[in-house]
Amino acid sequence: MKSFDLLVIGGGIVGAGIAWDASLRGLSCALVEQGDFASGTSSKTTKLIHGGIRYLEQLEFRLVRESLRERSVLLSIAPEFVRPLPFLIPVRGKRPRPWLLIRLGISLYEALSGSHGITRPRFLGEKDLRREEPRLLENGYRRAVLYYDAQMDDAGLVLAVLKRAEGAGATLVAHCPVVGFLKEGGRVVGAQVEERPSGTGSAIRARRIINAAGPWVDRVRRLCDPQAKPLVRMSKGIHLVYPDLGLKTALLVSSQRDGRIFFLIPWKGNTLIGTTDTDYSGDPGEAKADPEDVEYLLTEANRALPEFHFRGEKILSTFAGVRPLIAQEKRDPWAVTRSHRIHEDSNGLLTVLGGKFTTFRKIAEDAVDRLIRSFPDRKLAPCRTAVTPLGVSRY
Ligand SMILES: Cc1cc2nc3c(=O)[nH]c(=O)nc-3n(C[C@H](O)[C@H](O)[C@H](O)COP(=O)(O)OP(=O)(O)OC[C@H]3O[C@@H](n4cnc5c(N)ncnc54)[C@H](O)[C@@H]3O)c2cc1C
Repeated sequence: MKSFDLLVIGGGIVGAGIAWDASLRGLSCALVEQGDFASGTSSKTTKLIHGGIRYLEQLEFRLVRESLRERSVLLSIAPEFVRPLPFLIPVRGKRPRPWLLIRLGISLYEALSGSHGITRPRFLGEKDLRREEPRLLENGYRRAVLYYDAQMDDAGLVLAVLKRAEGAGATLVAHCPVVGFLKEGGRVVGAQVEERPSGTGSAIRARRIINAAGPWVDRVRRLCDPQAKPLVRMSKGIHLVYPDLGLKTALLVSSQRDGRIFFLIPWKGNTLIGTTDTDYSGDPGEAKADPEDVEYLLTEANRALPEFHFRGEKILSTFAGVRPLIAQEKRDPWAVTRSHRIHEDSNGLLTVLGGKFTTFRKIAEDAVDRLIRSFPDRKLAPCRTAVTPLGVSRY
């Protein structure tokens, strides 16, 4: 039976980050993924590495500051996959957010970025708008804020991190789900895996096991303890891929129905419109854009930008992903925190809950800091991922 210091379950951005960090510190590490690497939530994102301006309304200042710091780290270690992107927040009337509130919010966002800002935001009047994005004037806007965040190649970044993990010694296996656990004295000491498509079963022993299965984490925990209480609240988000609108910048607009923020972003020669945020209880692998999700985005895009005349028949494609949020039942899904937590079950299985793609490196650092307490006998290197360039060209 193969034996490692650490077994990571899940080949999304979080699992990849943990395998990279742990291997750089000197742990022997295996990572197993049930399907293709990056086939889960990590390839279904809005493609933003961002502080998350909307989390200011939830008073999540710590999360925003941490995300802005990570944005700066990723711009420096992974410029092939993360690049600055200008955004406009156009303002028309007082609803749902008045101009003053938006000015305050963007100034706070800038202040929280500290020394990690990209370019200082600008407040635009009618004359500036005519130069920056004249089509906003046609849609009734007279003012806007111009600020910067970053856009990423999500799946490309996962593969780059995995490649770095492998280079640091990690063993990576795709199409190899964990189907059960090995226990001794009530503690997990390994996992049973099944290679696909052959169906060959084998076991992997590990001193620590970390469950980074994203929206599948509770399913994995139940393989170990069928009574395990759910810790994750799943929330589905969809995107529309729409023909290029010819915009120079990304747009952040608000839904009139519920005040939620959504984006229209130039992406691979098209425009990405999204996202939604609705409770989900099915198999995360089967999430799809339902007609009501599409109707929501089309209707709200038409209310925000009536002169663009968005129509269902012009949609090029849709995709859907499921967020693994920390369970906070009393809130609407869009108001649930995006911060992360490392949970340990009484059987010793560690599980990553919540988080954002943007903060994956910090999530991995926290997880590895936690699990190396089990190796007091070993001299391990400190975390180096914030200063190690990913430096791999595009796939
Ligand atoms: C619509 C949407 C938009 C988003 N946009 C952004 C954004 O713009 N910026 C941002 O920062 N964040 C964004 N997020 C959040 C971000 O995508 C997630 O926080 C992040 O991708 C989660 O990564 P993960 O590795 O935990 O999960 P996943 O990527 O889902 O990875 C988990 C992996 O575990 C595997 N797995 C499951 N069960 C098993 C098993 N039994 N054995 C082996 N492997 C298993 C799965 O196949 C999967 O590949 C968005 C999320 C959604 C849904």
